[in-house]
Amino acid sequence: MPHPLPSSPRTKLTTLLIALLGAGGCGPDADSSAGDTSAAPDLIIEEVTVIDAVNGAREGMRVVVDEGRIAAVESAATPWEGAEPEATMAGEGAYLIPGLWDFHVHLSYDARFTDAMPEMFLRYGITSVRDTGGMLDLVLPIVERMEAEGALAPRVFFAGPLLDGEHVVYDGDSRPEIGITTPDVETARANVARLAEAGVDFIKVYEMITPEVFAALVEESDARGLPRDGHVPLSMLARDVGPSMQSLEHLRNIEMDCAADAEARLEQRRAALDAWTTDDGAGGDLRSALHSEHRLPSVAAFDAERCAETIAALSGTIQVPTMRLNALGIAPPWMRDGWDTALDASPADAGADWRAAGERQRTGPPARDTTFGAFSMHLIGMMHEAGVPIAAGTDTPIGFAIPGFSLHNELDMLVRSGLDPLEALRAATIRPAEFFGLDDEMGTIEAGKMADLVLLSANPLDDITNTLAIEAVVTKGRLLSGAELEGMGGGR
Ligand SMILES: [Zn+2]
Repeated sequence: MPHPLPSSPRTKLTTLLIALLGAGGCGPDADSSAGDTSAAPDLIIEEVTVIDAVNGAREGMRVVVDEGRIAAVESAATPWEGAEPEATMAGEGAYLIPGLWDFHVHLSYDARFTDAMPEMFLRYGITSVRDTGGMLDLVLPIVERMEAEGALAPRVFFAGPLLDGEHVVYDGDSRPEIGITTPDVETARANVARLAEAGVDFIKVYEMITPEVFAALVEESDARGLPRDGHVPLSMLARDVGPSMQSLEHLRNIEMDCAADAEARLEQRRAALDAWTTDDGAGGDLRSALHSEHRLPSVAAFDAERCAETIAALSGTIQVPTMRLNALGIAPPWMRDGWDTALDASPADAGADWRAAGERQRTGPPARDTTFGAFSMHLIGMMHEAGVPIAAGTDTPIGFAIPGFSLHNELDMLVRSGLDPLEALRAATIRPAEFFGLDDEMGTIEAGKMADLVLLSANPLDDITNTLAIEAVVTKGRLLSGAELEGMGGGR
């Protein structure tokens, strides 16, 4: 059973009255009894252009926030007649979008980032995150801290460890430990039961499992109402996996299903998986070998007709392409405006490391093959055209994804891949909410929804990189001014 949403404690806003309502705009003082509609709301944003993926752009609106919820979205042309709010923001010339999601994060992956990540996310307007892999003993305390009353942190949803096969890629040996072994059906059932008991919001299916284990994971998680995220297992075709998955990551292994010789390659992969023993190396070594052997040749053997079948089989599965990662060689973060500022907001040790790495990359020869990046952009464009749902996730802090900042890079990459800016916003707002069945609760700016909002000084529909022009953030009903946001993160 999914754990309940963190409740949003009523926040008394005492800071920053950017613009006080004129006396004429205020109604008579009302008593403050709970539930009384004439009681003072926490926040009013006046004269703002409201933008969300369902309702489009609405100009000249008043957005009222109270008790952690959006109390009203109405025309600002009619004077406010309710009680004077605790805080008011002038929204003229500004744009209000729903709080953003990073749909693919790893809170426990790099300990240098862990403590700073929640504030770094908020600083960049990310008010919800989905942790797609971490050991429970590390993730559970992080989630508890983020959900504590008054904590400055996004809403958080988590999977616990990757459910990997007999050989584990992220085994804590050759790579950080974020996966556990699921070699057989019995273990699959036991693992899902244990994770459900621990309160995970979904499960993450990984690459080394067998088709039998995959089927057992589907059955057990269905029985518990847990949605599934994951990679296409190496032993299966994307078209056979998609219909049983609510989301898939990185477009990983989909390239093989789009290749003319996919069936033959699948047989080779299965044989290699069967033959592998621990003497041959770590699980990560086998996975890397299989990717090296099949990825680029599959791209070269692309078959449009076959790929159309693949895409059709994925029509109900949210694709999280982590395009900024797949296309790191095409649009590296160290070449972007805002990279240095974002490093300033990062923990000092990791920030210094990444700054130096970025500097080396900037001045050195291009280090990465861009074939798969270009293919990924092309494929996501085709998928979008075919109506496949797409969500924005970064894999932060993996692959130089600065927490928070990197989500904006991902939005830019989605637009470069063929989504229009409003569709890119959909990928980071209502689409992730749908995965958890929370689209009635969040993801758009409508009365009754949870108050997670980002105020921008420039129009994101004109240029998606304007999502970085953040003036203020509302998280769980609490207003964070630009000055407050500046002080947040790990760079203090
Ligand atoms: Zn990941």
